[in-house]
Amino acid sequence: MSATIIDGKLISASARQQIAEETAAFTTESGVTPHLAAVLVGDDPASQVYVRNKERACEKCGLKSTLHRLSAETTQQQLMDLVAQLNADRTVHGILVQLPLPNHLDSTPVLDSIRPDKDVDGFHPENVGLMLQGRPRFLPCTPHGVMKMLEHENISTAGKHAVVIGRSDIVGKPMAGLLVQKGADATVTVCHSRTADIAAITRQADILVAAVGIPEFVKGDMIKPGAVVIDVGINRVNDKLVGDVEFAAAAEQASAITPVPGGVGPMTIAMLLRNTLEAAKQSV
Ligand code: NAD
Repeated sequence: MSATIIDGKLISASARQQIAEETAAFTTESGVTPHLAAVLVGDDPASQVYVRNKERACEKCGLKSTLHRLSAETTQQQLMDLVAQLNADRTVHGILVQLPLPNHLDSTPVLDSIRPDKDVDGFHPENVGLMLQGRPRFLPCTPHGVMKMLEHENISTAGKHAVVIGRSDIVGKPMAGLLVQKGADATVTVCHSRTADIAAITRQADILVAAVGIPEFVKGDMIKPGAVVIDVGINRVNDKLVGDVEFAAAAEQASAITPVPGGVGPMTIAMLLRNTLEAAKQSV
């Protein structure tokens, strides 16, 4: 079998087009331009690229974005002070603190201090709780992007066995949370670094989501023939971007698969813009 390639660039372009139209209409009507404030601490090259891509996407869709760059030596207090300032700024609708932070900083109190109604990443405990209860304010961008891709491809999750590899707060756990919601109706298994015989579990997956952070962790023989494979991983190997799935071998087994790059990544950005627009709408 040769899999259909799920084109995240194409799907995200149509999502961004929709967001641009809605933003223009909202701004004309309310006089308010949705505004994302991004905070970047230190000089991590990958983070710089991610933030730049987010800023560019904002500009193209008519949203305002402001980048706050802090040095790698920034203290916890300085970072918390900046978040407090952005929380209080009525012209800012969404706040994004780019992760990972330098090792001496603790991300938990920083993310907890973002006003929940400006938490466009959907990481605040209040927003995680609302999402899990099925009454979301902001959906976390990457898992939301994955759900949008499945929807676009008419891939139903209802009654399917979805296996998520990874249990991070950013991807794995919220991904499982969305798949199990009423309406999505998947039966979900979460695998992680302590899971025994992971291949035996992934081979049962109708939908397999890999969010591991290990290049080509998922091999072709770990995939059930006909499964849908979503590769969230972004790993740099010799200056090349590689996913968590061994793409060529997986494409032989799967019925549909996302590539890296050009898969989940562009969807994450589109969902961030969507949340920023929603935050602006909720603020007026
Ligand atoms: P993380 O390091 O926080 O979590 C990785 C998870 O993988 C952990 O829960 C761990 O239990 C699990 N894991 C590690 N080794 C394992 C093993 N041997 N077997 C089974 N499970 C194992 O990473 P994360 O933030 O969840 O990100 C995962 C990947 O997704 C990374 O490559 C990251 O760059 C990428 N990512 C992509 C996007 C996007 O927009 N496409 C967004 C966020 C993260």
